[in-house]
Amino acid sequence: MKNLAGVYESVVKRNPGEVEFHQAVKEVLESLEPVAEKHPEYVKAGIFDRIVEPERQIMFRVPWVDDNGKVQVNRGFRVQFNSAIGPYKGGIRFHPSVNLGIIKFLGFEQIFKNSLTTLPMGGGKGGSDFDPKGKSDMEIMRFCQSFMFELARHIGPDTDVPAGDIGVGGREIGYMYGMYKKLRNEFTGVLTGKGIPYGGSLARTEATGYGLCYFMDEAIKAKGKSFEGKTVVISGSGNVAIYATQKVYQLGGKVVALSDSNGYIYDRDGIKLETVQLIKEVQRGRISEYTKHHPNAIYKEGCRGIWTIPCDIALPCATQNELDGNDAAILVKNGCFAVGEGANMPSTPEAVEVFLKNKIIYGPAKAANAGGVATSGLEMSQNSMRLSWTFEEVDAKLKSIMQSIYKNASDAAKEYGDPDNLVMGANIAGFKKVAAAMYAQGITY
Ligand code: NDP
Repeated sequence: MKNLAGVYESVVKRNPGEVEFHQAVKEVLESLEPVAEKHPEYVKAGIFDRIVEPERQIMFRVPWVDDNGKVQVNRGFRVQFNSAIGPYKGGIRFHPSVNLGIIKFLGFEQIFKNSLTTLPMGGGKGGSDFDPKGKSDMEIMRFCQSFMFELARHIGPDTDVPAGDIGVGGREIGYMYGMYKKLRNEFTGVLTGKGIPYGGSLARTEATGYGLCYFMDEAIKAKGKSFEGKTVVISGSGNVAIYATQKVYQLGGKVVALSDSNGYIYDRDGIKLETVQLIKEVQRGRISEYTKHHPNAIYKEGCRGIWTIPCDIALPCATQNELDGNDAAILVKNGCFAVGEGANMPSTPEAVEVFLKNKIIYGPAKAANAGGVATSGLEMSQNSMRLSWTFEEVDAKLKSIMQSIYKNASDAAKEYGDPDNLVMGANIAGFKKVAAAMYAQGITY
């Protein structure tokens, strides 16, 4: 880095220990060097220094009472990163690994992702170190209510509109929405990912997984290939992984493996999605149970081994840094020609380097998984207009947004002289709109 090295050094110095945040900032700043050279006015106006500092970070106590009557205390976070092009928008994650650095990395990525969708949404992210695994429904409800009791002061349909993420699906959004409504006495589109009976959008549940496949389909077609007849490995077995699997089948591919944080299943005949949905969506069980239904399938402990399964296309859809340089080298060696990120930052920098060096068709998260937030944007529009579109209407809009994202990232990569580098293309295309808005709005206090 030439122009922006100082910005990165200052981020590391001022945010000690926030390694995921440093990683995300470094990747973006490296891509933006040529933009800094072309736009000295952005450097002068401190756009790069300002964009890496959240506008606001909120941390709060979340007390709740478990089923044994014991008081539990978790920590809540909401990072309102950038509102230059619209209200803050980004999911809420409930997972024991959550800390400020992880929420900041996700919020930072969200700025560029939301800009890429072409919809007017700023970037934010939130969550808690609460672990939903093994909790009763009533414990989940009490936790969500306590979390929203504080969060409600900081959000609003024109201020900040959270959604789901790891550990936060329709059930949790419902409990949080109920609490918000009670506190404010308002029926507004303050959260997205809502249930259909109370303002949710059709196709929101499917959107991230479907959008990932629409994006990858464009990228793969541009190289004269397709999903038809291809073997696909997908990590995770949550919302994104399940609906990516469904779309891969619709596009003519075959998914042979899925995972959760304990291990992975390999079904060479093709994963039976109904079984996975029963285990994960209805019974909230573990992926290992799949082999009880399909004894021919294999279950292995440890989720990393999933990348050793030979495949044509890999779609990491679980969590950050789940695929390292070594995993990437194995994928390439086994003939994998495309990798699309459903999860946020699932590939380590070393893995990304392997993909780019070997000319793998690589769809980076902030472009490839933007379908979820894009459809959240469509949910906001429907809420504001007090109407709802059909599944087909939303799905068609999602597809067209993913096609535009691919085109914009690909055009930016070409414009800046590295045509196959969608990482650089997505970062630049996402940045340009936010930077122009920040520049036009002056140095606000
Ligand atoms: P879910 O909670 O529905 O599923 C997460 C899946 O990933 C589960 O199978 C989970 O296994 C696995 N997982 C979580 N943490 C780990 C870990 N540390 N190691 C291994 N596996 C893990 O979440 P989503 O499907 O919604 O989210 C998955 C990814 O997609 C995340 O990176 C998220 O940020 C990203 N994303 C989600 C969007 C959405 O619309 N939902 C939008 C854009 C991005 P287990 O059950 O064992 O924890």
